[in-house]
Amino acid sequence: MTAVLPILPGATLGVMGGGQLGRMFVHAAQAMGYRVVVLDPAADAPAAAAADEHLCAAYDDPAALDELARRCAAVTTEFENVPAESLRRLARQIRVAPSADAVAVAQDRILEKTFIRDAGLGVVPFTVLHTAADITADACGNTLPGILKTARLGYDGKGQVEVNSLDAVREAFAGLQGVPCILEQRVDLACEVSVVLARGSDGAVRCFPVGENRHVGGILDITVVPARVSAATAATAVDMATQLATALDYVGTLGVELFVLRDGRVLVNEIAPRPHNSGHFTQDATVCSQFDQQVRALCGLPLGSPALLSPVTMLNLMGDLWARGTPNWPAALAQDGARLHLYGKKDARPGRKMGHVNVLAADADAALAAAETVRAVLAGD
Ligand code: ADP
Ligand code: MG
Repeated sequence: MTAVLPILPGATLGVMGGGQLGRMFVHAAQAMGYRVVVLDPAADAPAAAAADEHLCAAYDDPAALDELARRCAAVTTEFENVPAESLRRLARQIRVAPSADAVAVAQDRILEKTFIRDAGLGVVPFTVLHTAADITADACGNTLPGILKTARLGYDGKGQVEVNSLDAVREAFAGLQGVPCILEQRVDLACEVSVVLARGSDGAVRCFPVGENRHVGGILDITVVPARVSAATAATAVDMATQLATALDYVGTLGVELFVLRDGRVLVNEIAPRPHNSGHFTQDATVCSQFDQQVRALCGLPLGSPALLSPVTMLNLMGDLWARGTPNWPAALAQDGARLHLYGKKDARPGRKMGHVNVLAADADAALAAAETVRAVLAGD
């Protein structure tokens, strides 16, 4: 692969999307001396408050995209649903990483699962459903009981329905407005893990330590690092994620979610073409964070060390925590090893990601126990 000229501190970087991931990218980039422009249609986007400039416009507004290209030396993305066509338009003018093609794969579960399988990596058995006529006993026999997932625009368990029969698939498909879906076999999970990695424009890959993820209601709740899985399982997960990044010719920070089955097999669940919620522990527990790596990869600079400095547990702070009023921040901060990250969102709605706490401790079990204590004291228990 051709080496690119590095974009040095002092330059201006752009980010498509102004959510919390964009905000943390802004913080990392500014810490390294870059200026950052955020493009997001929301006036109160969390990243806009931190950025040097905010282009408040739709993601497919051609004038805004051209303006972003004029102001920036390179552009990255913080969420996968940025129209790939917008990234292509930017890429005709300036450096864009990850590429529109890589983002397009992650935007569509049909393309994504097919790409992963074609790369020779294990995925859960799935059936592609374009229309109701595709719902037949032959096609779906191997994937029931299953989970019906919309091909596009699903996140945090949204756009998913558990189904146990063909009739249930038909009903759920109609309920999802008949948009293209995949029906995935429901598998028996021993645990879920993720590998967050960075890949440079020179093809170098640096993987962060494997995280063990616990979800509640389809939303990530806790990540424990190092994952409490065998060394062989962890090595397999890292190997699979690395293969995938290389097959995608990926440049930037990539999140790879994997299933560890009860029979020991490791399957890829999905990928995120951006920093990942399960990689937030890297802000406090590794030499470089996933956001540092995103900046470095985008700028064509050497990637940093992903080495773990301390076992850690990341606890997501959901809006639900505000049900009984403002969480008890002083009590949480009194816990040794806890570091608080809040995204500056005004409305604490249930199911909304408001922030996270990273808790460092002597080992993974102690970090998990300490994170549970933080959760309890925040809620005033
Ligand atoms: P999202 O884009 O919403 O994160 P995922 O496909 O990752 O969608 O699904 C969310 C969660 O639902 C997963 O992390 C896992 O806990 C559970 N899940 C998804 N697919 C399966 C499956 N095929 N079998 C068992 N559990 C699943
Ligand atoms: Mg997921």
